[in-house]
Parts: sequence; C-alpha cells; structure tokens
Amino acid sequence: MAVQPGGSQPETGRPVAGGLADRYGRVATDLRVSLTDRCNLRCSYCMPAEGLAWLPGPDVLTDDEVGRLVRIAVERLGVTEVRFTGGEPLLRPGLLSIVSAAAALTPRPTLSLTTNGIGLARLAGPLRSAGLDRVNVSLDTLDPARFEQLTRRRRLPDVLAGLAAAVEAGLTPAKINSVLMRGVNEADAPELLRFALAHGYELRFIEQMPLDAQHAWDRSVMVTASEILTALRAGFTLLPDPVARGGAPAETWLVEGFTAAGGGPARVGVIGSVTRPFCGDCDRTRLTADGQVRACLFATEESDLRGALRTGADDEELARRWRVAMWGKRAGHGIDDPSFLQPARPMSAIGG
Ligand code: SAM
Ligand code: SF4
Repeated sequence: MAVQPGGSQPETGRPVAGGLADRYGRVATDLRVSLTDRCNLRCSYCMPAEGLAWLPGPDVLTDDEVGRLVRIAVERLGVTEVRFTGGEPLLRPGLLSIVSAAAALTPRPTLSLTTNGIGLARLAGPLRSAGLDRVNVSLDTLDPARFEQLTRRRRLPDVLAGLAAAVEAGLTPAKINSVLMRGVNEADAPELLRFALAHGYELRFIEQMPLDAQHAWDRSVMVTASEILTALRAGFTLLPDPVARGGAPAETWLVEGFTAAGGGPARVGVIGSVTRPFCGDCDRTRLTADGQVRACLFATEESDLRGALRTGADDEELARRWRVAMWGKRAGHGIDDPSFLQPARPMSAIGG
C-alpha cells in the first residue's frame, strides 16, 4: 500500500510508524499485560466459585514471548508504562525474570503490578530487586467473614501481610483497589479509608463493571461513584485535588487533615468506569496472556500477535499489527448503549 509523505496510509490515515494512535486522537502509552488467567481467589464480581476453564498451557505466551512483545511496545510503539496483571500475576512462575527483562529496556518503562496480594509477603523484596516500581493490591473489606464471603477464600491475613511487605520493600506508593458490592461490602468504604490513611496506602474505589464471567452484573444494583463519595463524606472532608487527572482513570480528592506516607496531602480516588467514563482520555493498550491485543477492556475484537510471532513475524511486522489493532479502538465502551454487548472474555482473562 502506498504511504503518504506524512507517514500514513491514504485510505485510513493510520500511521505506519510511531506510536499506538487511534482515530480519535488518543495515543496509548500504558500497556497492561496479563500474565495468566488463573487465580487463587474467586471474587464473586469476577469469577464463579468453581473457577473457569483456564487457557491451555501451549496457548499462553512463554516468558521470552512476553518479553519480546513488551520490548517491541517500549522500543517501537512508545509505551512508557507497563503494568503486569491477570488473573493473579503472582502465580506466574517466570514473573521475576519477566520484570527484570522489562526493567532492562531502554527507555526504561515504569513497572507496576496489580495483585490480590497473596504471596506478596514473600515476593515483594525479590520483585523490587527485579525492578518493579509499584503495586496495586486489591482489598474489598477488612472483615474476615466478608472477605471470605466475597472471595470465597480465607486469605485476608495474607493480603494484609502482602501490603505491609510491599511498603517495606519500597514498592510505593502502595495502592489499594476496592470494589463495593451491594448487600455485601457496600458499607465498608469509610473503614477501608481509615485503614489506608493509617498505613499510608493510597485507596481507590472501582465501580463494578460488566466483566464478570457469570454475566450477573446489574447496573440497577451496582454501587455508584456518587454513592461511594457520599459514604466517605459522612466521615471525612474531601477537598478538590489541585493535581490534574491527565489520562488517569481515578478522580481523586484530598482527605482533609491527613498526610500521605511520603509527605503531602493524603488522597482517595474513585474510578467511575460506568457512571463517569473516561474513555476520551484513555491511554491504554492491553495484551492477554495468550498474546491477543485488545484496544479496550470492553472490546469485542482482539488481534492475534501470538500466531504471527510463532510463525516468524519480525519485530516491525508485530509492531504494525499492534498499530492496526489500536487504530480500530472505539470512542467509548458504550455500556449505556442499548446495543452494548459484554465481551466474551471475563476481566480475569483480559487482565484488569
Ligand atoms: N488478581 C489481581 C487482583 O485482583 O488485583 C489482578 C487481576 S484483577 C482482574 C484486577 C482488578 O480488577 C482488581 O482490582 C479487581 O478488583 C478488579 N475487578 C475484577 N472484576 C471486576 C469487575 N467486574 N468490576 C470492577 N473491577 C473488577
Ligand atoms: Fe482473582 Fe483478581 Fe478476579 Fe479476584 S479480581 S478472582 S483476585 S483475578
């Protein structure tokens, strides 16, 4: 195909070089890499009690394949931040070597991990040594019985130990992600904030999204961002955050009278993915554990990089396919559109 002098294809305007642009002017620089779809918890907003049919081993990218695609993203496609997730990424045997390889790249990307915290007490130090910069630990309640009800496992002490170890190892700021479910932990918001403030963790609430494997999400019962803020304001004074949000999904507030671990004002965030969508500023691209590029959490299309990679595609060809995939990114997730279709893959298999 002929390339115009400006370096784009005449039919589509899609750039043939450079970063991961889309038709709406967004450029993805933040890569989420799912390292496994398996998990040792069964959070009810994510997967059923019996678990899921996990990806067959040969379908999952090897450590070297993950390393190569991350390198292409950083070296050729302008990715500056890499977050490892899953499933539960601490279950990935090669995690430390994958992190080390990413930390050796030039330009060096920021490296973070989203985890349920189980096993982090043991792995926080080695992960920091391998080059990890930060962690987000998911924690939806501090009540052991509710934790068990929500995750179907009795592992609250492991998560708390993991958070403490993360700070001890310097994986800071350590952030907590909390999802509130009506009738389960919806009243836990103030206690979670008190806990986070006392320990110097940065807390962010995430609205529950239609990404559960059971397709049980119901907008009419989800706990909304405005309900979360009302609950927090009953116990705390929240002030507007002077720091601009940029491409970050969380809207943040300063919590009056509290100081963050590293000094400065303490913050709390709310990610209103459903009721306050931030699609217009989205800077993310996603790679699943089986090597599919997804332009959005809610995309119903994927682009296969694994097949190309395993049949001899060179780096530039893989980069080209990645650019094509992102060019097709939709303007928004469309949850409110009557024609909205929940993606076939659940959050645990996409990488949250
Ligand atoms: N297992 C790790 C964990 O729980 O942090 C990483 C993967 S998990 C899919 C990533 C994040 O997605 C977690 O913070 C989890 O609470 C969140 N999550 C999972 N299902 C969700 C849903 N249906 N709506 C909103 N957030 C969800
Ligand atoms: Fe596992 Fe994370 Fe899903 Fe919970 S949210 S079941 S910890 S993948």
